[in-house]
Amino acid sequence: MSLRGFLIDLDGVIYTGGVQVPGAMETISWLRHEGYPFRFISNTTRRSRKSISLRLSAMNLDIPSEIIFTPAAAAAALVRQRGGSRISLLSTGDVHHDFEEAGLQQSLHDAEVVIVGDAGDNFTYQAMNRAFRLILEDVPFMALERDRYWMDEGGLSLSAGPFVAALEYATGRSAELVGKPSGSFFRMALDSMGLSPGECAMIGDDAVSDVQGAMDSGMAGFLVKTGKFRPEAPPLIARPPTAVLSSIAALPDYLQKSSQ
Ligand SMILES: [Mg+2]
Repeated sequence: MSLRGFLIDLDGVIYTGGVQVPGAMETISWLRHEGYPFRFISNTTRRSRKSISLRLSAMNLDIPSEIIFTPAAAAAALVRQRGGSRISLLSTGDVHHDFEEAGLQQSLHDAEVVIVGDAGDNFTYQAMNRAFRLILEDVPFMALERDRYWMDEGGLSLSAGPFVAALEYATGRSAELVGKPSGSFFRMALDSMGLSPGECAMIGDDAVSDVQGAMDSGMAGFLVKTGKFRPEAPPLIARPPTAVLSSIAALPDYLQKSSQ
């Protein structure tokens, strides 16, 4: 296996609950030193790219927002490409900045697309019902991610997936998935490095969205045993990961050994 570049998940790989995973910074420095290009590809839909970059710098990680790929940034680009300008966004945090920066406006009544991310406490009955009614009126429906759950500071917590599934169930319509494991999302990050899937590995803590998704797109898939990884709950995937690492700190050793 000759790998030339990496896509790296953030939450659960680089940090968990606001704390850097031990050795993450050293691995990133090592990748830079060895000349491996990399991009961060996150299903986080609660923060804008800029605020993710700021959060990383508070953990002593210098990651410019340009190399962070999020479903919100990808969705904003897609809506613009299709000529849209008005969105109905169900989200939390400051992720709306990524849409505003792309020139998109939020509209309650004449939205051209419904976009659902992890809205946390904003997943109220009223907000879900508003989205439900728009989708029933044939407004296209995008899901920023459809992960089942994620590791929050207080424990495993519902992600956007269960709410997207509820809207699909109620309307009989299917959401267009923008985040991982969508092949076009992986490709957007790979294209920015000028690398093909066969030259890259995805490193993540989600066996489905990260590892199986990347492998289905032709990449190698490395599962780390940090973040949401649970040994007692075998992941629901068809193929085993290319490698299972104790954490991202084990990547340099793994690459050195596998190239011998
Ligand atoms: Mg993760």
